[in-house]
Amino acid sequence: MSWLSNIPPGIKNIFRREDDGKDALWSKCPGCGEMIFQRDLEAARYVCPSCNHHMAITPEERLALIFDDGAYEAVEAPEPVTDPLKFRDEKRYTDRLRENRRKTGQPDAMQIAVGAVGGAEAVVAVQNFRFMGGSMGMALGEVLVKAAEEAVARRAALIVFAASGGARMQEGILSLMQMPRTTVAVDMVREARLPYIVVLTNPTTGGVTASYAMLGDVHLAEPGALIGFAGPRVIEQTIREKLPEGFQRAEFLEEKGMVDLVVHRHELKDTLSRLIRVLMKKHRQPAKPQAEEAVKEAEADNVATLEPPKAMPSSPVNLDKAAE
Ligand SMILES: [Zn+2]
Repeated sequence: MSWLSNIPPGIKNIFRREDDGKDALWSKCPGCGEMIFQRDLEAARYVCPSCNHHMAITPEERLALIFDDGAYEAVEAPEPVTDPLKFRDEKRYTDRLRENRRKTGQPDAMQIAVGAVGGAEAVVAVQNFRFMGGSMGMALGEVLVKAAEEAVARRAALIVFAASGGARMQEGILSLMQMPRTTVAVDMVREARLPYIVVLTNPTTGGVTASYAMLGDVHLAEPGALIGFAGPRVIEQTIREKLPEGFQRAEFLEEKGMVDLVVHRHELKDTLSRLIRVLMKKHRQPAKPQAEEAVKEAEADNVATLEPPKAMPSSPVNLDKAAE
């Protein structure tokens, strides 16, 4: 036992850093188990240099990565009613919220920023899995509606980085109501004929997958991301069948047509810039052909860094039509 264990917990807490894992000098890759020097990992944008495993990054790191010169402006969303059901499990919901707000420095699990992506203005909403598992409650609904309004007002593209365990159970039916609500928000962007691009990051599940995360003109995904509605164990128990290897992973879904393109984190900004450029240029045309062409262009540019595009029809893109 080291002398450190004799220090009372109260005093230990004073000296404890916010995210102990991140302050360590070395990090262990969850993909291959290799120890990586923290500074190298940061420089590689938290992608393992040995096995390409994409680790989680904070919304701030994500935004800095996406916007030109890392420059953006935060947009505040209206504050919703806190704890409408006076919910309590092991802890009071209000206490849980307070804890997560302190931990992340954000009011809830999604934040909005505005800036230039490849020279074009874009509204970017990032979901934070560290805030109660990126769960979707009233606050998140509010943020997504605000992001959509902001995109329409600025006539800019809307990009959403999804990462979520699903609905926020502490808000009961009110959290489920965010599914239609966010769907309407996405429709607003579509009616304004502005591009809506979703980037599915690890993990995107539950009610989020059942609403705005699957309604993009284009769906990109980070390699290896878990994307699904119910977890694999629940599905196996329901259908009484063994699920195929890599089921619900980004690459599998790309092959089956649920994801348009799996993009390496280092290529993400360029891919997004190109998509916005193509989609904005043609924003007066109907939504579907726009998306088709943008994906085709992005695919052509990605051939060098990714596997060749699969000959599977890819939603919402109709490749039969695109081949004409
Ligand atoms: Zn690795």
